[in-house]
Amino acid sequence: MVFNRKGYFGRYGGCFVPEILMPALKELEEAYFSLGKEKDFQEELDYYLKNYAGRPTPLYFASHLSQKLKGPKIYLKREDLLHTGAHKINNTLGQVLLAKKMGKKRIIAETGAGQHGVATATACALLGIKCAVYMGEEDVKRQSLNVLRMRTLKAEVIPVKNGSRTLKDAINEALRDWVTNIETTFYVLGSVVGPHPYPTMVRDFQSVIGKEVKRQIMEKEKRLPDYLIACVGGGSNSMGLFYPFYKEEKVNFIGVEAGGLGLNTKKHSATLASGERGVLHGALTYLLQDKDGQVRLTHSVAPGLDYSGVGPELSFYKETKRAKFTTVTDKEAISAFFLLSEVEGIIPALESAHAVAYLKKNCSQFKNNLVVLNLSGRGDKDMCIIERFLKEKNNE
Ligand SMILES: *Cc1c(COP(=O)(O)O)cnc(C)c1O
Repeated sequence: MVFNRKGYFGRYGGCFVPEILMPALKELEEAYFSLGKEKDFQEELDYYLKNYAGRPTPLYFASHLSQKLKGPKIYLKREDLLHTGAHKINNTLGQVLLAKKMGKKRIIAETGAGQHGVATATACALLGIKCAVYMGEEDVKRQSLNVLRMRTLKAEVIPVKNGSRTLKDAINEALRDWVTNIETTFYVLGSVVGPHPYPTMVRDFQSVIGKEVKRQIMEKEKRLPDYLIACVGGGSNSMGLFYPFYKEEKVNFIGVEAGGLGLNTKKHSATLASGERGVLHGALTYLLQDKDGQVRLTHSVAPGLDYSGVGPELSFYKETKRAKFTTVTDKEAISAFFLLSEVEGIIPALESAHAVAYLKKNCSQFKNNLVVLNLSGRGDKDMCIIERFLKEKNNE
């Protein structure tokens, strides 16, 4: 396999961190590859995934959408039905359970839009462990509902006043906390990014998605799908879907990034489609930077896709052409958001709507193909963004 002990996928990944963080990452690596692989741990995690989070999620044949798009036979993997409304809970339950087994007394996390913060606070409330979430001051203002959810779950939300007061500054602040409190504290990362072992560990926790799809599609169609499609922010829902099919060479992977206002505007988050190689948050990967090497601010109508990096394993998939990466714009995503809501009665998260938009735009290319699309989350959280969009449209 492409993975080795140092966490490289081809040339991507690794562990580019200040020396002071190395002991904590070493401890985590050892714990994950021993405790995390034990039967007891797996059984306990499976118990919570099933009885608490709501797994397995359905693989739903979207007959109306398939008919409307007149090309592919489309199945939706319903991660939107999980507790807290998205796939993120698969990962936070795994990491928080591991933290408890390691005897850690305190969890920290960073969050942008607040979804990962809520999923972490939820797992901490369930498993009875203290939780602090770093969040940029700008995001605290923009995402007041999620801040209230976290506080209701008894997490401490710490506004970060540095830099652009958004996600990347929150990550830096969380790392600073970790360095100071290494003995007692576990850092729960929200996607397949960061230094080794996070990209591998988060991918493993999310792989439950692809494993279920494999079993479910064989039951329903007696064959593997032609295409797997997922949106890509940091890359965890896409890796979770793709990874169990890695060796099935006939199964094609498509990752859809946020094209925002268009690739020529710089207001987008299309890391793999238009970025360069570099080191971000401890890993060698693709990222968006300006000509001076500063990390660029990103934009997407979907809060969860608004990140300037991407998981190193997806960079490897790009380089080896195992997956294809593409983009759709904010407008195309919003149009797909309404389409899925109207024809299937499923209001998708704006992130997931990017994947739907790609299929909608290119449906003629998928004639008679069997397609599985990962519906990573539900759209309740995005209704204010939609309201604003409709108001602006009416004023035009
Ligand atoms: C956070 C989020 C994403 C993006 O994160 P990935 O790590 O790329 O999966 C996608 N969809 C939803 C619903 C999210 O909440």
